Amino acid sequence: MNKIDTINIEDKYMPLFAGKTKISITKGKGVYVWDEKGKRYLDMTAGWGVTCIGHANPLITKALIRQSKLIIQNPNGGITYSPARSKLLNLLKDILPHNLNKIFFSSSGAEANDAVIKLARKASKKINVISTFQSFHGRTISTASATGQDIHRNKFNPLMPNYLFVPFNNIEEVKKVIKNDVAAVIIEPVQGEGGVIVPDDSYLEKLSQVCEENGAYLILDEVQTGFYRTGDLFASSPYKLNVSFMTMAKHIAGGFPFGAFAMKEEIAEKLEIGDHGGTYCGNPLGCAVSYEVINYLINSNIEEKIKIVSEFTLDYLNDLKNKFPDIIQDVRGKGLLIAIDFFEVQQAEKINKICFDNGLILNLKHGKIIRIFPALTIKLKEMKMALEIIRNAIGAV
Ligand code: PMP
Repeated sequence: MNKIDTINIEDKYMPLFAGKTKISITKGKGVYVWDEKGKRYLDMTAGWGVTCIGHANPLITKALIRQSKLIIQNPNGGITYSPARSKLLNLLKDILPHNLNKIFFSSSGAEANDAVIKLARKASKKINVISTFQSFHGRTISTASATGQDIHRNKFNPLMPNYLFVPFNNIEEVKKVIKNDVAAVIIEPVQGEGGVIVPDDSYLEKLSQVCEENGAYLILDEVQTGFYRTGDLFASSPYKLNVSFMTMAKHIAGGFPFGAFAMKEEIAEKLEIGDHGGTYCGNPLGCAVSYEVINYLINSNIEEKIKIVSEFTLDYLNDLKNKFPDIIQDVRGKGLLIAIDFFEVQQAEKINKICFDNGLILNLKHGKIIRIFPALTIKLKEMKMALEIIRNAIGAV
């Protein structure tokens, strides 16, 4: 049989929504992936911040096999009960902020954000939602409308109305608009797609206070930051916050398409039968995988391991910044969500290309920001290998 010409077929039959890297990946293991020609790459993107316990982790394989032999999709979808779902709920209720004890599921982060925006409007009987510039909340028409980046919004008019935008990490600007019939403020604890922007340490607590004073719900979008990406269980965990809704996806099932949102019971009481649902919401296969991934994360001392790798990486990159002050503008990040911000697009592209040719897959954002967000299980020696490739690439330009 003729071998399938993967790249040509994809290019021919899929719309090109992104400049794709011309490799066809056949398999992965841990932080490594292999292409059709058998070349090995270090994946510093964890499949876009998803495969938190590494590629092809046997825990996930076993959960998929076990659950798929029992049942994949319940009769009548989410309106019958599932032991896999209740097992996951029991685990989530113990690790989420204690008042977020009503939990529902989705298949993606955008879907979870879409749902909470809709439900916040219904429960509050208010219409406006505050979001921030550079934020990213998804690609549905509503979450694109909530996203503070022109590239994801401008071409799709009319967008959903009643989103108000303020600068990230600026409380005074929130205060100026929050009295304006605001149902909710949606915020990423660390902006991921915006280029890894970490706010001041006091920002989230102040924001929570302002929301509380003005009767607006605080929606935390932990889709990218949740489940230890920034070192803590949630990026918002270190702070004392009055959160009304939290959304989750990505790490929640280690690569299986799955998401969730949690809300306060008093909000859930304002909602009614028919207000939300979906064919795959709380699908047993997703629940079984999610349980295994989360259970592994919370019982594997992952925080300590992330801390060691993160500190080493940030120190190393800051050293590089000092060595190459004309090339590297900024190094920033938290946990294993790290960015190298270059001065020039051309240089960043060249560095990214050299790294790729040397077997390192990085994530280039906004032309000049290289984001590093590998599996949380990455070993220090693997990170050192990646950093050496980056250093050599910078040296070469
Ligand atoms: N919110 C945030 C903070 C994200 O980073 C993303 C995805 N990068 C989303 C929402 C959308 O998630 P998904 O792609 O699963 O729809």
